[in-house]
Amino acid sequence: MIETKQIERPKLILIADDIELNRDALEVVLDGQYNLLFAENGKEALEIMRMHREDLSMLILDLNMPVMNGYEVMERLREDELLQHIPVIVLTADKSAELQALQMGAADFITKPFDIPEIIQTRVSRILELSEGKKLISAAEHDRITGLYTRNFFFEYADRLFQYHTEMQMDAVVMNIEQFHSVNAVNGREFGDGVLKRIGEEIRAFLAGTKGIASRIEADRFDIYCLHGQDYRAVLDRFQKAISRFSPNVSIHLRMGVMPWQEGVEPVLMFDRAQTACNMVRGDFQNPLMIYNNEMQAQELLNRRLLNDLSVAIAERQLQVYYQPKYDIQCCPPRLSSAEALIRWKHPQLGMISPGEFIPLFEGNGLISKVDNFVWEEAARQVRVWKERYGFVLPVSVNLSRADVFDPTLVDRVVRLIGENNLDFKDMKLEVTESAYTDKANEVLNTVCSLREMGFEIEMDDFGSGYSSLNMLSDMPIDVLKMDMKFVRNIETSDTDMRLVKLILDIAKYLKVKVVAEGVETEGQLHLLKDVGCDLIQGFYFSRPVPPEEFEKLIEQEIAIERS
Ligand code: C2E
Ligand code: MG
Ligand code: MG
Repeated sequence: MIETKQIERPKLILIADDIELNRDALEVVLDGQYNLLFAENGKEALEIMRMHREDLSMLILDLNMPVMNGYEVMERLREDELLQHIPVIVLTADKSAELQALQMGAADFITKPFDIPEIIQTRVSRILELSEGKKLISAAEHDRITGLYTRNFFFEYADRLFQYHTEMQMDAVVMNIEQFHSVNAVNGREFGDGVLKRIGEEIRAFLAGTKGIASRIEADRFDIYCLHGQDYRAVLDRFQKAISRFSPNVSIHLRMGVMPWQEGVEPVLMFDRAQTACNMVRGDFQNPLMIYNNEMQAQELLNRRLLNDLSVAIAERQLQVYYQPKYDIQCCPPRLSSAEALIRWKHPQLGMISPGEFIPLFEGNGLISKVDNFVWEEAARQVRVWKERYGFVLPVSVNLSRADVFDPTLVDRVVRLIGENNLDFKDMKLEVTESAYTDKANEVLNTVCSLREMGFEIEMDDFGSGYSSLNMLSDMPIDVLKMDMKFVRNIETSDTDMRLVKLILDIAKYLKVKVVAEGVETEGQLHLLKDVGCDLIQGFYFSRPVPPEEFEKLIEQEIAIERS
């Protein structure tokens, strides 16, 4: 018989005892504080638990019952994933049974004949509190999909290992899935979750029996803190094989970065470095494993220094703008037509640093807009100075980074510069690299379109290094294609390269835009380009990028040609 008594209090407790007197006694003690359910034997108790598994907070279980005794009930509970979290308090008259019950997973016990009511009440409420706390911690501690630690708990435990188990040498391993967002997009989230879960299982198997710990830090990044000195090629291979077996029809590639144990380096820094190593093999399917090394450490130190020094560099004018001419080669002799502003950093200790070393670094963290702003202001001021000095405008192009194009203040900023320096929009050209158009293409197109409509000339930089399709190109708001240097380099010796150059010129003709060939270093290259109809060239053949004073000599030469 099942008796249900509804009491106002929210927590639901099941009391399983075959003796009615005992049930009544407990009802009296707990009445008014909890909702109570009753069962007369173990079998009934399990049935009720299954029915109420969502809202049942505790089982108070007599060990001696007919049909199914308390030990059997506990045995069943232990095997039942849905019920094993419900705390059990056992009722027993037999002192020797207590230990066994605790060993089987009971949270506490109440002795018969019954203790005084306060003791029973206190035990029940203490166990309820403990189990609530445990539930909360366990939810926050483990990632729902993989069951691995969540980020904060992982670093907490890694720090403890680091501080209190100094005898253990641990490596930091970061593992990522290549293009996980596309895996999700193409195959669905459920499949993506399955992949993550499978990796989680394999990591657990890998760490089983060791002191190692692991976490899914975010999305598809897994951090593993494991004993030093593993064969990581074999480790990565193991994970890759597991995942390939899991999804034989969808190719999924893993990559891994490792920071090997180093005396005194804290886990957070270890994992930062492992992540840096992991990023370095992004997209490299041939070689998806990278171990952090001294060179990377030196690079990291340099990067940190550059990041630190940037503000001072701007304030102290260590940053300087150089100018490289672009010549119209279809005229005879070729005529200076414009210039490109290129940043240089004269660092007081490190010497001259080329933009290749710091632009990508600053692009990664938003500081690039500071640099670009400086260059644009400087370039606009320079155009005005030359305009005033020579009586004509030599247009200068400036480089825009991806971050600039997404900056909502961009249009206002460049417009203000034009106004302040009394220039026309066409006096300052904007170079946007082809790869800036690749994702979020629409946003980029909108911004670039509005700049072009105002009258700025838009040059597509590094054309041929990205993946624009012909289709996309015809919709792009551009006036000039700057052909990437790699096409020009070998045109004197390679027919294929020459054919590619002609193809790009054909594309430009179709789009009705001009072409600037970059990286022209020899007279031979110049003639070949001229013969196939290339309009403009920029390269060391005419001049390297030079400081403004030196550039003025080129302007003066130009004026002399004009006069002669
Ligand atoms: P870019 O915009 O494509 O600039 C052309 C690069 O080619 C310049 O390198 C220039 O010095 C180099 N170059 C020109 N002619 C030749 C040649 O004949 N042979 C060879 N080997 N190289 C030649 P630089 O100045 O080192 O700049 C590298 C890149 O850094 C630039 O490529 C541009 O993407 C970026 N950059 C430079 N200044 C700025 C800036 O102010 N802002 C932003 N966002 N990026 C900049
Ligand atoms: Mg450029
Ligand atoms: Mg370029």
